Amino acid sequence: MRLSRYFLPVLKENPAEAQIVSHRYMLRAGMIKQASAGIYSWLPMGYKVLRRIEQIVHEEQARAGHLALLMPTIQSADLWRESGRYDAYGEEMLRIKDRGGRDMLFSPTAEELITDIFRAHVGSYKDLPLTLYQIQWKFRDETRPRFGVMRGREFLMKDGYNFDVDKDAALHAYNRHMVSYLRTYERMGLTAIPMRADSGPIGGDDTHEFLVLASTGESEVFYDEAVTQLKLGHRDIDYTDRAQVAAVCKEFTTLYARTDETHDPAIYERDVPAERRKVGRGIEVGQIFYFGTKYSEPMGATVQTASGEKVPVHMGSHGIGVSRLLGAIIEASHDDKGIIWPEGVTPFHCGIVNLKQGDAEADAACEAIYAALTALGLDPLYDDRDARAGEKFATMDLIGLPWRITVGPRGLKNGVVELTSRRTGESEELPPEQAVARIAEIYKGI
Ligand code: ATP
Ligand code: MG
Repeated sequence: MRLSRYFLPVLKENPAEAQIVSHRYMLRAGMIKQASAGIYSWLPMGYKVLRRIEQIVHEEQARAGHLALLMPTIQSADLWRESGRYDAYGEEMLRIKDRGGRDMLFSPTAEELITDIFRAHVGSYKDLPLTLYQIQWKFRDETRPRFGVMRGREFLMKDGYNFDVDKDAALHAYNRHMVSYLRTYERMGLTAIPMRADSGPIGGDDTHEFLVLASTGESEVFYDEAVTQLKLGHRDIDYTDRAQVAAVCKEFTTLYARTDETHDPAIYERDVPAERRKVGRGIEVGQIFYFGTKYSEPMGATVQTASGEKVPVHMGSHGIGVSRLLGAIIEASHDDKGIIWPEGVTPFHCGIVNLKQGDAEADAACEAIYAALTALGLDPLYDDRDARAGEKFATMDLIGLPWRITVGPRGLKNGVVELTSRRTGESEELPPEQAVARIAEIYKGI
């Protein structure tokens, strides 16, 4: 992409309404624009990052054997009356009447609709295990929408639902989600810690929230410092292997890590050595639940077991805050100049800055680098504007592309360009072809 043809409405001033850094940078970098309280338009660069995040979620769900579908945002109240949640949900639910006076609602989550799909089409244990998920907009009329995409009213969520013949199988699905989520967040450059949580209106016994540590997080968290060192990395995981998946979950949930809702000072002090006891704040980027037959029983979603018995299906639901993740990633990765995107989610792989637009040699070198990166399947952003170098650098720093190639007549005389890491600020001079090869190497396997 050439910046001269892109739509990147960068703001020079700090928007007064933004209280936290991610909100400020998303507005300043022209990623989002507020449409009304807690509701945003996603401008091209914001939308690009959102899609990268969606893509990672899809890939990791596929790896775990889960199937994507898409359900409507507007749902009939009747289904929600069957589960009893139409009355129970309260003011967070946006209720709508259609022209015939029928009660409709904008889905805040989708347990009822998915259970309805299940009961219409699945009847036998032979069709299980089954996990269906979607990435779809949700609406919750939050009392205090704030912090930009962090707490919106309309927000994008991945919501997945597992159907299993018994509790053991459903707990395997729970564990499988935990591991796939850990991998999902790691690919986004995040450390998200699973913490035992309260179940709230979804209901159920087993539930973990995934929290990204950040001073602006809304939850207070208590954890063993050692938990922040755990990494899944590239290890091979067979998601059908119950024992292996359970062992990984154990590894990630044995050390103490809880939110204020479940924190128990006595256990904390007993189990965590004093020097490793940490209190901080965290952003909830996901939550998994096992709730058994809470929806299947009232809604009559049953399966026939191997012995011919008809039983309510065991379920769980599992959510990732897809749009909130943009804010969480920026909270976890920025400096005073702007965003620092992790390679896994960056909107463009690399920036190209032409220090002297109009100089025949510099223009030609930039074009060649742009063409070479594109030919390798990479997606560079070439700042080809007729602007001062300082302005180009400021824009690149603000939008946070992890790598920048700077091209100028002086360097080209010596046959070199400059390759700079946004994270460390370190630069290196090298021939253009080598800079391109280096970028290609960095993104291999990401
Ligand atoms: P919270 O406690 O932050 O209100 P929740 O526990 O009600 O969230 P879940 O039902 O667990 O939310 O939804 C799954 C995920 O969706 C959450 O972990 C969070 O990342 C995201 N999410 C929930 N509410 C919002 C919101 N208002 N804006 C953006 N993302 C949200
Ligand atoms: Mg939650």
